[in-house]
Order: sequence, then C-alpha cells, then structure tokens
Amino acid sequence: MTIDLTVLGCAGSHTGVGRMCSGYLVEAEGTRLLLDAGNGSTANLQRFVAIRDLDAIVVSHRHVDHCIDLIGCYYNLRFDPGFTRRIPLYAPAEVHTTLAGLLSGDSPMTFDDVYDHTEVAHGDQVPVGPMTLSFAHSRHPVPTVSTRIEVAGTTLVYSGDSAGGPELVEIARGADLLLCEATWAGYPQDHPPDIHLTGAQAAAVAQQAGVGQLVLTHIAGGTDRDAVLAEARAVFDGPVDLAEDLARYRVTGER
Ligand SMILES: [Zn+2]
Ligand SMILES: [Zn+2]
Repeated sequence: MTIDLTVLGCAGSHTGVGRMCSGYLVEAEGTRLLLDAGNGSTANLQRFVAIRDLDAIVVSHRHVDHCIDLIGCYYNLRFDPGFTRRIPLYAPAEVHTTLAGLLSGDSPMTFDDVYDHTEVAHGDQVPVGPMTLSFAHSRHPVPTVSTRIEVAGTTLVYSGDSAGGPELVEIARGADLLLCEATWAGYPQDHPPDIHLTGAQAAAVAQQAGVGQLVLTHIAGGTDRDAVLAEARAVFDGPVDLAEDLARYRVTGER
C-alpha cells in the first residue's frame, strides 16, 4: 500500500520567499487528508485538490503557521456552490476556540457550519477512509499533537511542532517516513528549551524510532538549511531530505 505525501508549505514560524508555512497533503486510495494549514499552504493545496474535496483536516496546534489558512478555506467553502458537506477537522485543545473566535460576528454562517470539529489528544485514534490516524502529545508551549497515519502496513508520521522526547519516539516507532520538524541547527543550549528541535535532535528521534526515511521540515528562516541537513545526516543512518514546497514523496511499506 502506498501513501502519497505532498509538501504544500515547509517554512518555520513565518513565510519566506516562495516558501509557505506548514501544510501537507496526504493521499491514499483516493482519500485526501490535509495535515496542517499554515499561511499560504492552501494556495498550493489547490494545485492538487479542491478544498471541498478534502476528506478530513488535521491541525497540530493553534500557532498560526499551522492553522490560519483554515480561515481562508472557510471563505472558499462558504462561497463554493459545490460545497455540500462539512469537512471533519481533528485538532487539539485551543485550535477551535482560536479560529472560531476570528469569525465570530462576521456572518450568520459560522466556523462550525463549514468544519465538523473533534478535539483530539494523546492516545486518540480516528479512521479517515483507509487511514488510521493516531495522536500523541507533543512537547510545545501550547496543546500540540504529533500524528501517525497508517494504511495497511505503510506508515507516515508527522511530528507537528515538537521539542521531541519519548512521546515522539514512540509514535514514530518503525514509520516508513518521519516528517519531523527541525527548526534550528547547532547546539540545543543555544536555543530556548522545550519548543523545537535541531536537525541533529530530529535525526536522533528518527534513529531511536528506527524509521525508514527522514524528511526535515519547519526550518526557521534564519537557520542554515545546509547545516540542518549535515548534522542530521551525521546522526541518522537512513536517507534524510529537507522538505521543499511542492516536493512529493511516495511512501511504501517495503524496505
Ligand atoms: Zn510552527
Ligand atoms: Zn508552534
């Protein structure tokens, strides 16, 4: 079984030149899942799929570089005559209140008329077509989940924003592809604690979890991308890539 991953945006915290914030299209057997909706990412999404045709959306946390495009999608859907059903939205605490609050009083049509929201937390599992989604607590200053997507023996794991730790290693265990944030490079002690990972720290998670392939994303605008890649390759034995907007990966369970 294959899972197709398309990077819609991979910038950390804010957009860059031609670089959108976090968003990923995950497809398997015709089912289409949007994983995060950071600034600009859904402009790239529409190259591949109409927003109304998404089967579900997962948002990792309420920081705007992971969720703010759901407001744009709300207007897209509201004015789309082909929009006939609410889109399931799975997100941890504070995402719904943050986004729905931005639309309050705007029109008779509310956030909940467009999205069918379910709050998720550590240990929850949700089926989306052939996909089984599992969520784990992620270490980050606001409620955040990491997401594991399994389709008949093929597994993709997305860290969300994360400072790592055993929860991330556990949910990434044996994944065929780990899409992991690597906001920074260099010495961890040079960065604020409990927010993000360096390339080497992300690679250590991949190594401990025994994943097949590591794709590094959410690299901050001021971070040396080549340094992130080099330090990750020095730690993880398997293939390592830096995510690029519009890059596509075919994930299989064969390795
Ligand atoms: Zn972020
Ligand atoms: Zn964040």
